[in-house]
Amino acid sequence: MSFPELKPNAVRYHPDETVEQLRGPVVTTDVEDSAMSLALSLAAVSLQNGNPPVGAVLINNATGKTWANRTDDKTTRNLVRHGEMVAYFDAQPEVGDDLSDCTLVTTAELCSSCTPHYAEGRIGKIIYAAPRAYVFPLTNIMRPRNINMPDLLKDGNTDTTVIENYRMIESLGLFATYGALKGVRVPKKAGKFLLGISRGTITPEPVARQVIAAPNLQAA
Ligand SMILES: [Zn+2]
Repeated sequence: MSFPELKPNAVRYHPDETVEQLRGPVVTTDVEDSAMSLALSLAAVSLQNGNPPVGAVLINNATGKTWANRTDDKTTRNLVRHGEMVAYFDAQPEVGDDLSDCTLVTTAELCSSCTPHYAEGRIGKIIYAAPRAYVFPLTNIMRPRNINMPDLLKDGNTDTTVIENYRMIESLGLFATYGALKGVRVPKKAGKFLLGISRGTITPEPVARQVIAAPNLQAA
């Protein structure tokens, strides 16, 4: 299976289980873009410590407060210590069980362990960098599953905007390093894009140009 380069894309999951493709340029605010920068640096720390490079930032849009953390599930041997969950544990005393005013920014598509909690909290917006399907050929982690984030959001009573593949190349570069350290060889059939990422010949464009002025796609 070949994995061509993807562009950022925005989708909205409605409470009635419909899914809407949001047209037009993918929009992120400065705060969201800075959150992704922070998530990527936390992911690099996870990588240095021997964990998958996942960093996550939860933004409470009602108060402007943010919580950032990273994955250390491998080194702590703790199944719930995914960056997304640890950031939520940090935020929980303030945000409680209602995440509808919150945005989760993370370096990888949410897994099927983390998503149900965020769906139950009716997370307002998710911005992720690396699609799960692209991480697997680089790392042999995040294997193909039958139930994934989109299924769980559709199944949940959510009203969530998702921006996918945002700053994907930066995140996939970290995953490629993780895979290389584990001795993973990217199969030729993965295609030019992932091979280029793994060889370091495809590198990210300066990100500033991806930040486009309002209107924000988040539901008013
Ligand atoms: Zn997870």
